[in-house]
Amino acid sequence: MAEPHHIVIVGGGAGGLELATRLGDSLGRDKRARTTLIDCARTHLWKPLLHEVAAGSLDLYEHDLDYLAQARWHHFDFQLGRVDGLDRARRVVRIAPTYDEDKNEELIPRREIHYDMLVIAVGSRTNDFGTPGAREYAISLDTPDQAEHFHRRLVNACIRANAQTTPLGPGQLKVAIIGAGATGVELAAELHKTTRELVAYGFGKIDPERDIRMTIIEAGPRILPALPERVALAAQDLLKSLHVEVLTGERVTEVQAHSVLTASGRAIPAELTVWAAGIKAPDFLADLDGLESNRLNQLIVHQTLQTTGDPDVFAIGDCACCPWPEHAPCVPARAQAAHQEATHLFRNLRRRLEGKPLHTYIYRDFGSLVSLGEYSTVGSLMGKLMGGALFVEGFFARLMYIALYRMHLYALHGAAIVIFDLLGRLFTRRTEPRVKLH
Ligand SMILES: Cc1cc2nc3c(=O)[nH]c(=O)nc-3n(C[C@H](O)[C@H](O)[C@H](O)COP(=O)(O)OP(=O)(O)OC[C@H]3O[C@@H](n4cnc5c(N)ncnc54)[C@H](O)[C@@H]3O)c2cc1C
Repeated sequence: MAEPHHIVIVGGGAGGLELATRLGDSLGRDKRARTTLIDCARTHLWKPLLHEVAAGSLDLYEHDLDYLAQARWHHFDFQLGRVDGLDRARRVVRIAPTYDEDKNEELIPRREIHYDMLVIAVGSRTNDFGTPGAREYAISLDTPDQAEHFHRRLVNACIRANAQTTPLGPGQLKVAIIGAGATGVELAAELHKTTRELVAYGFGKIDPERDIRMTIIEAGPRILPALPERVALAAQDLLKSLHVEVLTGERVTEVQAHSVLTASGRAIPAELTVWAAGIKAPDFLADLDGLESNRLNQLIVHQTLQTTGDPDVFAIGDCACCPWPEHAPCVPARAQAAHQEATHLFRNLRRRLEGKPLHTYIYRDFGSLVSLGEYSTVGSLMGKLMGGALFVEGFFARLMYIALYRMHLYALHGAAIVIFDLLGRLFTRRTEPRVKLH
């Protein structure tokens, strides 16, 4: 009997894991095609939650999902490893050796996996544009490990300041956030809340209003550049009421151990610096066996989500540049785009297996929401009925924001599990501190 068609997905994030789950549930269950997901991490966490992990309002270990378990429940295979190359002539992806946590012992040697159809969904990471000191001294929020690392440093900073008998130094308990996109703004609001809760749990010598300071530094003329001005103004007002300093028109030229320098000559003192400005796709995509990529390393795809260089290699999510006619050269790098592309590609891969022509994908922008922690949520919703963008704020916007994550969980687990999970969390919330204390 002939081997079933093998679909390999590289990257199990917002797009890749939803796709693997749907393919496994349909084609894998009745053995019409085999799906293999490759990821360099062992567990998945929906990336838009990372700023909450960093602030300590969300416990990573309660929300991460084991790839091996998901694979077993949904009829696909999981392979742990970091893909670093492709041989299109032989239809194999190359996977670098996998090491243990301490990088001492080689667990899996370098290997290759054969595919019939390949989907690249490796996402993006922060783009520090080569700014001196950024890599050494600024923390990015690209992975759960980095978000946890930031949180540990934040708690340590509080422990140190609380035990100190001398006055606080100039940068102490000061956080600089570089980039006033949604990630930077959401992080600032979330940190404002959780640092106050952290202090209330036993750091009595710290006065949050006096001692803890946050500064957002943005090169552009206003915060939230990708969102409508009204949303930005509402967010700016709230940040002002929280005494978060917002510096616009300030381009960062260097990050130092205890300060951030800007082109205008300012030195902003900071004990912790987060780099949240700009993204780019992983470097190995820039030269992936001749596939076309742009200056952000994104693979150029047609609206069928096939790469321009190979009809059997597809790309979705942040690492793909899919045309968005009449709007922008590429569909924006957002979780809702990754979700839509996974849904579209699921149908297209099935059509390709059946020898049918592929459908073109058109991105539908439902708007953007920015969570300002427990203080508020603001955003704009798009819709034909509304005749454009509708400004939303407060409780309704918060519900819509929460619904985004629930939709991702629904795609991974189905309705019943999402409802039981929600109920379970409502009850456990009462027996746990509201902020992670370690
Ligand atoms: C802090 C933060 C907040 C955000 N908030 C929002 C929001 O509110 N709304 C919104 O729409 N978007 C938001 N985003 C953007 C959103 O998270 C991304 O657009 C989305 O996750 C992209 O999905 P993806 O599937 O392309 O990639 P990802 O979700 O990033 O997944 C990529 C996967 O590929 C794996 N991988 C990477 N390289 C390799 C390799 N070489 N080999 C094997 N595996 C690899 C990674 O481990 C990861 O599992 C936010 C992003 C951040 C960082």
